Amino acid sequence: MSRVFHRHTREELPSAAKGEGCYIVDTDGKRYLDASGGAAVSCLGHSHPAVQTAIREQLEQISFAHTGFFSNPPMEALADILIDQAPEGLERVYFVSGGSEAMEAAVKMARQYFLEIGQKQRTKLIARRQSYHGNTLGALSLGGNMWRREPFQPILLENAHHIAPCYAYRDKRHDESEEAYGLRAANELEKKILELGSDTVAAFACEPVVGATAGALPAVPGYLKRIREICDQYGVLLIFDEVMCGMGRTGHLFACAEDGVSPDLLCIAKGLGAGYQPIGALLVAGKIFNAIQQGSGFFQHGHTYMGHPLACAAALAVQKVIRDENLLENVQRRGAELRAALEERFGNHHFVGDIRGRGLFIGIELVADRASKQPFDPKLALHNKIKKKAMQEGLICYPGGGTIDGQQGNHILLAPPFIIDETHIAEIVDKLGRVLDSVFAEAKA
Ligand code: PLP
Repeated sequence: MSRVFHRHTREELPSAAKGEGCYIVDTDGKRYLDASGGAAVSCLGHSHPAVQTAIREQLEQISFAHTGFFSNPPMEALADILIDQAPEGLERVYFVSGGSEAMEAAVKMARQYFLEIGQKQRTKLIARRQSYHGNTLGALSLGGNMWRREPFQPILLENAHHIAPCYAYRDKRHDESEEAYGLRAANELEKKILELGSDTVAAFACEPVVGATAGALPAVPGYLKRIREICDQYGVLLIFDEVMCGMGRTGHLFACAEDGVSPDLLCIAKGLGAGYQPIGALLVAGKIFNAIQQGSGFFQHGHTYMGHPLACAAALAVQKVIRDENLLENVQRRGAELRAALEERFGNHHFVGDIRGRGLFIGIELVADRASKQPFDPKLALHNKIKKKAMQEGLICYPGGGTIDGQQGNHILLAPPFIIDETHIAEIVDKLGRVLDSVFAEAKA
């Protein structure tokens, strides 16, 4: 009997023994094609020799030196590589150990920035429904997935407010262009800022491409540009959460590059360390760093393992592999192929409402009725069934769902490693086809 407190306390999980490229092998020798990189983490697949070597070499030098006392070479080199490619205006990197920590740091840094510049009344935060920003209390307060928040509502931050997401599949009117819808959706932010009091809002946070709660849902063209304009007009900081969609997943190192919009604070994690080490980071606009440097000189926040040398060495090696093996090109090419193969296989399926995404970040929204877009009855717990059947088939995908009109929606998120080829694509579509046939047959019965 396992003595581990697994999150799904009643589930018996297979034990992962080995990683081989796009596959995980369990202790019984069963192979699983990792078509979601866990939760969009393993962007280089498993056991990449260059990353393994980098970790081993760093281990021989030094594995830990507290950042209150020392900087370290891989941390400095990683910051250089990230800032060299970062969206305009982002000039410094604050390292942490994961996505929730990055979001917590973003919120506290936004708050401290306004204290430093004498605007202490800016205390309110705005985020979007149908979003996920992490499970720690601050990040959960920003998250807009109501079923996740509900049990903890009484202990969440009171000053976090929410607007609608940019969700063209559900919210765009038939007679509306994508651009007109994008403006309408973005203008909700302006309304909320004015309702709360424009000089009381500190920051707005969103995922440029929504991951776990909506299934690779990109903003429509123009939406994020209008969001940037509104933030500038009212002096509100813009936080992009690219924990899932960043680090090459969409075919650009930073997802927001495709929208041509730069935030003031940008959170990354998952693909940064590609699962080889736990690491996250917050990229920070020069104006924020300068305000803190010229003000108190000290960011009042921190964690023991930030800037961990082994984690930074791993992430640095991941970045070098992405660059040396031209993997962003592969993400774009294979992403288009995977999307086309999914469209061909499931595009007209009665229970498939929408196939969407960017690069190798693809979502399939499942609906009980294609015409009305009615979600499945949450009592069916479709996402659990899909995950279980997929594991039986030897396929790792990431089924989930946010709250649609008070109900749990359903989607499958695919985020395979950047190194996939056409045989993996065929295997994903083939296995997913069998999984969905079987789950839908049960749902109909
Ligand atoms: N933000 C987004 C968009 C995420 O998808 C996640 C994790 O799924 C997080 C934040 C939290 O990251 P972590 O689980 O590393 O704390």
